[in-house]
Amino acid sequence: MFDPSQRLLAANSAFHLAFGTGTGTTGQTFAQVLLHARNSGLLRPGDQASSDWFGVAEPAALLPPPDLMLHLAKGGWSRLAAQTDAQGRMLCQLVDITRQMRIWAAIEAIPDGFVLFDSEDRMVTCNQSYRDIYKTSAPMMTPGVSFENILRYGLALGEYPEACGREEEWVNARMSEHRGPAAEGEHQLKDGRWLRSIDKETPDGGRVGLRVDITQLREQAVALESARLAAEAASRAKSAFLANMSHEIRTPMNGVIGMAELLCDTALSDEQRLFSETIRSSGEALLVIINDILDYSKIEAGQLTLRPEDFDFERIIHEVVMLLQPRAREKGIDLMIDYDVFLPTRFTGDPGRLRQVLTNLIGNAVKFTAKGHVLTRVVGMEAEGGRHQLHVTVEDTGIGIPDGLLDHVFGEFCQVDDDRNRRFEGTGLGLAITRRLIERMEGAVWVDSEYGKGSVFGFRLALPLAEDSGAERLPVLIGKALVVEDQFINRTILERQLAACGAEVLLFRSGQDALDHVTGGMVPDVVLAGHEMPGMDGAVLAKKLREAGYDKPLVLLSSSPLAAREAGGEAVDAILQKPVLRAELYRLLTSLTLPVAPESTLPEAPPPAAQSQRAMRILAAEDNRTNQLVLQKMLRSLDIELRFAGNGLEALAEWESYKPDLIFMDISMPVMDGREATRAIRESEAARGLKPVPIIALTAHAMEGDEEGILASGMDRYLTKPLRKSEISAAVLAFAAEACRPPERGGQG
Ligand code: ADP
Repeated sequence: MFDPSQRLLAANSAFHLAFGTGTGTTGQTFAQVLLHARNSGLLRPGDQASSDWFGVAEPAALLPPPDLMLHLAKGGWSRLAAQTDAQGRMLCQLVDITRQMRIWAAIEAIPDGFVLFDSEDRMVTCNQSYRDIYKTSAPMMTPGVSFENILRYGLALGEYPEACGREEEWVNARMSEHRGPAAEGEHQLKDGRWLRSIDKETPDGGRVGLRVDITQLREQAVALESARLAAEAASRAKSAFLANMSHEIRTPMNGVIGMAELLCDTALSDEQRLFSETIRSSGEALLVIINDILDYSKIEAGQLTLRPEDFDFERIIHEVVMLLQPRAREKGIDLMIDYDVFLPTRFTGDPGRLRQVLTNLIGNAVKFTAKGHVLTRVVGMEAEGGRHQLHVTVEDTGIGIPDGLLDHVFGEFCQVDDDRNRRFEGTGLGLAITRRLIERMEGAVWVDSEYGKGSVFGFRLALPLAEDSGAERLPVLIGKALVVEDQFINRTILERQLAACGAEVLLFRSGQDALDHVTGGMVPDVVLAGHEMPGMDGAVLAKKLREAGYDKPLVLLSSSPLAAREAGGEAVDAILQKPVLRAELYRLLTSLTLPVAPESTLPEAPPPAAQSQRAMRILAAEDNRTNQLVLQKMLRSLDIELRFAGNGLEALAEWESYKPDLIFMDISMPVMDGREATRAIRESEAARGLKPVPIIALTAHAMEGDEEGILASGMDRYLTKPLRKSEISAAVLAFAAEACRPPERGGQG
């Protein structure tokens, strides 16, 4: 406190500490106190506030200015606030403002523009970057000037090119944006730079704003966008190219595979047979590769759509395993399925794609296994929303995969590159496709392997139950079932499947053990014996059991039912194909408790012309000469009449005159394609009230959407090229029964 003549009356210890004074200072003027502090080195040399002030006046006559800022030598900032009371005394207070000054320094240091307005929209402060951004308006940017005035000032000087010609509207928009609770926008400056402005309300009703220069970001975004568009266009072009290529390749493949197949049916020398077999199998292998590449490119181009429908998961696994059975049998590998006994089997999903995944995994397992087994195991539990979480594993006892390469195998065109692996064919795409497919179904795939011992590939998938899945129920089996199997896994699977239905299960690992027990007096209600067992095999056991007087049902389980029938068919009641489909097993066991009829073979399909006076008439619309020849040879063994049309228009004419019972229709043909021709036939049939003739599409198109397009044009079925004799004959036989009824084609008949 200074007296009215500005002499120090009293000061506290904090004041003395700051200015380096003591009680002896009493009576000095303020200027003398400050001078003392400066001379004692307490103030920073060059401190703006104090040096300016010292420079302008006589120390004796001076009062401190209203807000004196002191930069202290020991670091930090203080502000001196002075006030005069009613008696003319001056009260001085030294306030530490180091923290504010630090914050301000930080705001100055940020590269973005910073501005603060108070609740009355007057500028409180802004940093230099802000002034640099709005160079034209910078002279107006002083504390107290309103936002609108700064805006209008810049506008008048052409700071905002986007406002040109609609200035008032623009100001209004900016003002309401500015007053809103929070605003973010992008603006272009007249020098071409782009700014992102972010404005927010402060707790006291003011506005704080940031201006970020995003010119570079925008340039990158534009570059990225055009790169994306170019990449997408390229990808579309690629898949279109692949679709066309596959069509082009499949068509001649039809000739190669089909002709080779036919050649194999003719009288050939051993060498010739080897050559033609090689042509056929190489063609088939090439086709697999083409299909893989096509599939992968479809997935990549995002063209893969899943087609959910109700299906039986256990049955699908069984079908896939059955297709691989011949290859496994050649090598002597056991194929097993262990489907959780209490897990429902009917779900909703895409069975075609799941079949593909299973074919890849189980097919690989068979391919890379020389001896032992391939076990497909499914367990599951109920998950949220009526779904079931399914865990599927495919375990083999094959060559295994080295540790470091486990992740690698799911990559595109990736194969383990070592001596053992190089013996096997493949594209290295199967697992990449598998992973993509499972991920599309929101599942996950994994692999675990021990090099030299075997691998386990697995996937997890959540699928909703099919609507009709409630109908599945386990049958009730009463009595003792005797199971003889040398393979531990097979034994346990059977044990679980039978025990779940209430049967009492007795397990034996050899034929001799089982025989000893039965001859020892234990009589089971049914015997299930594996055919292929070391020592006494199942067929021999069956005969011995019969000899010993066992007269209850006996079932042989064999991976080769034909061989089993030859070996011991007369002694057994039924032969089941291994791996056994559970439903099949249950059906058999339920029927065996009734009087059993001797096993009957499937009735043969009647020859097409058996019941009719005339041969079935088939029209084939096909422009390609080779394909015509292939089709002709493939149908040769059937009693039919065949005529060709070279394009859709000819097919239409032949339909009128030849009145076929069945039409094979190629899709891509000159003049009029297969779809158009079919549509024309269907329209004509409808107009004349004729019974629709069955039309089967023959297509090389394998791109997504083809199937719908083909069926939508009115065809009944489609077969993809290359054609196989068995498929073609099956299709003809299927329609033969229909066709051989007396013709119903109205006035035309
Ligand atoms: P491909 O079988 O056509 O070569 P995949 O993508 O299906 O292609 O498999 C990639 C590679 O992963 C195979 O070449 C093989 O090296 C390895 N692999 C896949 N499955 C197994 C398996 N069950 N056992 C050992 N190696 C396997």
